Amino acid sequence: MSDRIELKTPPSQFDVVGDAWVVHNPRFGAEGTHFHTYGLLTPYFKGLTEGKLMATHCVNAKCPIGHGKADSWLPPRADCPDCHQPMEWTQVTDPSGYIYSFTHVERGGTGLTIETPYYQIDVKMPGVGTIVKSYLVNRTPIKIGDKVRACFLTGKAASNTCLDLYFELI
Ligand SMILES: [Zn+2]
Repeated sequence: MSDRIELKTPPSQFDVVGDAWVVHNPRFGAEGTHFHTYGLLTPYFKGLTEGKLMATHCVNAKCPIGHGKADSWLPPRADCPDCHQPMEWTQVTDPSGYIYSFTHVERGGTGLTIETPYYQIDVKMPGVGTIVKSYLVNRTPIKIGDKVRACFLTGKAASNTCLDLYFELI
């Protein structure tokens, strides 16, 4: 077995409706295609396919929690959960961090396209107030605190889903 998982995530088709992507996910075969709009979060998914990690942050000075200076949300939220005002987009310029927790996945659920076994990881990144859930390309033994950086499936390799973000050990 290789010490890295092979990334062979099939691309999802999508329509563009206004500014939003509507993804076709044939998760259960042709009869089970799931249509899902990314809506106001489209910049996040589009950014992944371009090798950019896009987050949102609240800039409302009257926000009861962040006062306009809070850490970023990742995955992003269109509106601030604390003050319900629209958030602004920002690119995470150094998309690296450390493993906050992890699970070793030996059997995936229906429709999972990640080669098993693999590590599902939660990542803490500087400047990001939330924990990012993703997967690790490495299969070597890991521990909490190990440093990782974000990687992306871009261009024709992109799946146009959240699987376009993954991490590798630094
Ligand atoms: Zn807010």
